[in-house]
Amino acid sequence: MQTKTEEGWRPAPVPGTSSLTQVREAARDCTACPLYKRATQTVFGEGPKGAPIMLVGEQPGDYEDVAGKPFVGPAGKIMDRALEEAGIDRKQVYVTNAVKHFKWEPRGKRRIHQKPNSREIAACRPWLEAELRLVRPKLLLCLGSTAGQAIFGPSFRVTRERGRLLSAKLAPKVVATVHPSSLLRQPDEESRQREYAHFVADLRIALRAAGQK
Ligand code: SF4
Repeated sequence: MQTKTEEGWRPAPVPGTSSLTQVREAARDCTACPLYKRATQTVFGEGPKGAPIMLVGEQPGDYEDVAGKPFVGPAGKIMDRALEEAGIDRKQVYVTNAVKHFKWEPRGKRRIHQKPNSREIAACRPWLEAELRLVRPKLLLCLGSTAGQAIFGPSFRVTRERGRLLSAKLAPKVVATVHPSSLLRQPDEESRQREYAHFVADLRIALRAAGQK
């Protein structure tokens, strides 16, 4: 039974089990922070237990919230293309987010993404910790600053740490790069191509650090 600590904030009900399926099912009912109230569903990670690489993004977007699956929208599509180009099979990696519910605000009929704050990241962290404990990847790839902050704390800056092999208490080997959605926000074709190539290069660094190439 969950203990109510403060209006809208509770400990995440992570079961002490070695079954990833049971943890995923328990996450469906999570009400540990207020984000569940406006989202359609919990979007938990996907991929094989024992995957050598775990990718962690920020939070599900509009598409993911509806589909209930991580990285299936436009950012996921560009990420899939980059993974393939780097020689990484998406079916062989575990893909998740630091925050498991979509945070958004209405603008007309659209739902506009809002960045999760440090308190929401911390509330959701036990689910990410459980995924790391059960999948035990050789390498964790952080996609963007929110993912990096979930692992290293609020002072983490992806611009400073990008492409370097790092180590954290939660994961012995970590590489950080940008979130693939940033590739979609580039102002022109030239910068899009340059940033995409940089992203693929970071994926190759992660692949080598995981001992997969
Ligand atoms: S965002 Fe995370 S901590 Fe907050 S309710 Fe959803 S699953 Fe629970």
